[in-house]
Amino acid sequence: MADAAAAHAAKRQSLIESLKHGAGPVALAKETSNLFRDRAVGARRRLDVRSFNQVLAIRDGFVEAEGMIAYEDLTRECLAHGVMPAVVPQLKTITLGGAVAGVGIESTSHRHGLVHDTMLELDVLLGDGRIVRCTRDNEHADLFFGFPNSYGTLGYALRVKAKTIPVQPYVQLTHVPFSHFGELERYLEAGEADFIDGTVFSPQRMFITLGRFVERAPYTSDYTFEHIYYRSIGEKREDYLSVHDYVWRWDTDWFWCSKNVFAQNPLIRRLYGRGRLGSKTYTKIMRWNSRVGVTKKLERALGVHSESVIQDVDIPIACTGEFLDFYAREIGLWPMWICPIGGAHGNFALYPLQRGWYVNFGFWDVKRTRAAHAPGHFNRLIEAKVAELGGIKSLYSDCYFSEGEFYRRYGGEAYDALKKKYDPAGAFPRLYDKCVLKA
Ligand SMILES: Cc1cc2nc3c(=O)[nH]c(=O)nc-3n(C[C@H](O)[C@H](O)[C@H](O)COP(=O)(O)OP(=O)(O)OC[C@H]3O[C@@H](n4cnc5c(N)ncnc54)[C@H](O)[C@@H]3O)c2cc1C
Repeated sequence: MADAAAAHAAKRQSLIESLKHGAGPVALAKETSNLFRDRAVGARRRLDVRSFNQVLAIRDGFVEAEGMIAYEDLTRECLAHGVMPAVVPQLKTITLGGAVAGVGIESTSHRHGLVHDTMLELDVLLGDGRIVRCTRDNEHADLFFGFPNSYGTLGYALRVKAKTIPVQPYVQLTHVPFSHFGELERYLEAGEADFIDGTVFSPQRMFITLGRFVERAPYTSDYTFEHIYYRSIGEKREDYLSVHDYVWRWDTDWFWCSKNVFAQNPLIRRLYGRGRLGSKTYTKIMRWNSRVGVTKKLERALGVHSESVIQDVDIPIACTGEFLDFYAREIGLWPMWICPIGGAHGNFALYPLQRGWYVNFGFWDVKRTRAAHAPGHFNRLIEAKVAELGGIKSLYSDCYFSEGEFYRRYGGEAYDALKKKYDPAGAFPRLYDKCVLKA
């Protein structure tokens, strides 16, 4: 890995040169993305960061890696060393840098918090070509705590050092039906499970999935081809997966969203083949569809109005019942993923969380109605309810906040100070312009 460190230094130098030689606003050149808002294609210089995809070190409870490494590669290397990143987002192509610049979550979040809570050190490329090393207590601690949820508007993460946890070869899963979030709280307080998430098929059919590392498994299931993980939740009480298959259990069917590309039809699933089932393929198809507009044309012909409702929202646990009632009444797209967030909730300026448990609700579907609604009608209802309940939503998809509201909810004052200090020339767009106005 000494070679990787030397190569990393050389890559940084050539990136700095390429940044210095151009002029005007900057954007990332990357092969994959998990951003779900259609963006205006503006005249921005594309900074080629694709080679920043290597692991630099794995030891003593941490992994150090380049910012554009995909979690699939990062996790593979960590597992080979008997550890995994403390929080691994569910989609294989999410990058380490993308997860700390956005908001990453998984079933270990009840112990370890969000991906950025596991961050120990961060090297950020600024718009003027400087690279600053940020830790929680050095002179760039403001950027360390201001980087999460900045979505590439303050600089790019080129190197990240993050916590790892030791693994055992298998995960034992228990799918427990539940009817009230108080039951989830009891499992959280007990603190026995290594992994906790849940699936809501309807308010009458909800499951908590508890996962525990085990050395041996009586059998292991395979959800990477003919069988579909989310369906197994309601069908089995107990299950075993290899740790690798557990980590990627949601990727094969993009949770349940593979239905939109007909991949849950047994015949079509075989035509896809095992190798093509996964978020990488589906994202490409969805982007093509969004460009060509096949679904839109079909909906117009059928006289149906539609709105994408793709959101992850974090709600204080005391208000989860009220959120679920609201969601069932106004939105009603099922299934829905739930994932508790614990840990200390560091003081991250652009994604402020209060003390105590939160529950993430993830829902990714299209609301279709016969009646027409104003643009963003359902997403605005969600934004308003989340705000009323003291929650916060991720910014990777459509947002409708007014500038004032956005400023209040996402650390506007701190953001202004960071922008002034780290991007005074405006090499990167502002957060509101990028996430709400889609600049
Ligand atoms: C349908 C869907 C479901 C999702 N589900 C989950 C989930 O279950 N769990 C979870 O953890 N997350 C989830 N996400 C969110 C995802 O983690 C974030 O959107 C994350 O930012 C994507 O990272 P990426 O590497 O794919 O980055 P991209 O999609 O390529 O970029 C996202 C943004 O981050 C910026 N960015 C990317 N890399 C860097 C970098 N190195 N430095 C600074 N800025 C950078 C880009 O400029 C861009 O604005 C989901 C997203 C979608 C669309």
